[in-house]
Amino acid sequence: MTRSLRSACVIGWPVQHSRSPLIHEYWIKRHGIAGAYKREEVMPDAFGHFIRTLGERGYYGANVTLPHKEVALALSTPDDRARAVGAANTLWLDEGTLRSTNTDVEGFTANLDASVPGWDAHLGEVVVLGAGGAARAILCGLIERGFQHIHVVNRTLARAEALRARFGEVVQPAHWSAVSHLLTRATMLINATTLGMAGQPPLDVDVSPLHRDTVVADIVYVPLVTPLLATARARGLATADGLGMLLHQAVRGFSLWFGVRPEVTPELRALVEADIGR
Ligand code: NAP
Repeated sequence: MTRSLRSACVIGWPVQHSRSPLIHEYWIKRHGIAGAYKREEVMPDAFGHFIRTLGERGYYGANVTLPHKEVALALSTPDDRARAVGAANTLWLDEGTLRSTNTDVEGFTANLDASVPGWDAHLGEVVVLGAGGAARAILCGLIERGFQHIHVVNRTLARAEALRARFGEVVQPAHWSAVSHLLTRATMLINATTLGMAGQPPLDVDVSPLHRDTVVADIVYVPLVTPLLATARARGLATADGLGMLLHQAVRGFSLWFGVRPEVTPELRALVEADIGR
């Protein structure tokens, strides 16, 4: 691999399931870039050495996926977003310095901008289901957009309480038993758990208390249309799906590594949808 061929990769353990190569290879081809995007399966023990020698391996940068996101943050120079989320998913070399960010934050907000324009015009009460890594990125995005009342509902209440400690009083931890009451006031409902994902238990939430102006987002993208999105759409509510977030989060990494800001096109979406369908 030489420096004339710009290269980036996704580092994970395992990494075979990652759809990032499909997305970045589409953009490389579309923009006629002499570049490559590879999968790198790296065990936790070897991760530190791998990213310290990223440049020697011919890479300009990388996506980082499970289980490396927290270590990636610790071993790089993070921006405010990665620091706020407590995890990095995108790395790049800047004159020898390994920098990092977390693009799930803008993946979440940009997808809503595209799917539900004006979604943040009225800063009402938001209900976020889940308090894991994805929820942290979503909270960061909501707070950047000015939301002041975010109820975080989680099976393990202590994790929701930890998010209040991290993000401040805008976060109100809640038990699942409070969901139906909270939904009567919500202007937005977001599923940031693994519930509803193929192979996981279903998400058991009754959306009937939601007001007809409530926006519903699900970050699960297998299946593409989760039962939550299907019932919300059947009620005529505006929705944003998980695949849109996945595609939008990839934009900045590509522009950092390859110098072109790519677009999330219907053609790209169809390509990834077909892959998920397989
Ligand atoms: P995580 O850190 O492991 O968090 C999982 C969350 O799901 C926790 O809040 C957990 O609650 C909850 N949960 C899991 N099983 C549950 C159950 N049986 N009952 C109730 N709650 C349950 O995972 P993550 O990284 O945040 O990812 C969450 C989901 O988001 C995954 O499906 C992932 O694929 C998806 N995701 C999508 C995108 C995208 O671009 N669309 C980006 C990132 C992640 P406890 O705290 O109680 O365990």
